[in-house]
Amino acid sequence: MYRIGLGYDIHQLVDGRDLIIGGIKITHEKGLLGHSDADVLIHAIIDGMLGALALDDIGTLFPDTDPKYKDIDSTVMLKKVYELIKEKGYYIVNIDSNIIAQAPKMMPYIPKMKEILSHILDISPDNLSIKAKTKEKMDAVGQKLAIEASAVILLEKCMKKMY
Ligand SMILES: [Zn+2]
Repeated sequence: MYRIGLGYDIHQLVDGRDLIIGGIKITHEKGLLGHSDADVLIHAIIDGMLGALALDDIGTLFPDTDPKYKDIDSTVMLKKVYELIKEKGYYIVNIDSNIIAQAPKMMPYIPKMKEILSHILDISPDNLSIKAKTKEKMDAVGQKLAIEASAVILLEKCMKKMY
């Protein structure tokens, strides 16, 4: 049995924060604002994984009112959500995702992001697509005020216990 999930996230770009996307630090004069490390790509992937199984959303699982999650590394959140998926008997077939940013250029960082995220999620890098786009200078993303990410995730229920 297959389940599909659609994930989305957006964070504001501000001074005085590191820019962390896809589990890596990216050189840029601004970073994303958030209670956690604000890793917009990981949050979109988590959102899609939870959505695929109609589970509580990311804000409910990791409330931004909880000091425990202040500046948390989003890869830790990703690992927790992946555990939830496995507990329900599912594994990830493939992920397709977009990072939408006017600047900086994401392309040079994508191979490393794929390596980190595919390792955490037990999938081959061939089953994890990360694409980079701009907003053609339109809206808040196009004006470099925010970065957006979206992802679709396909899960399959394993008949035999794989883990
Ligand atoms: Zn987020």
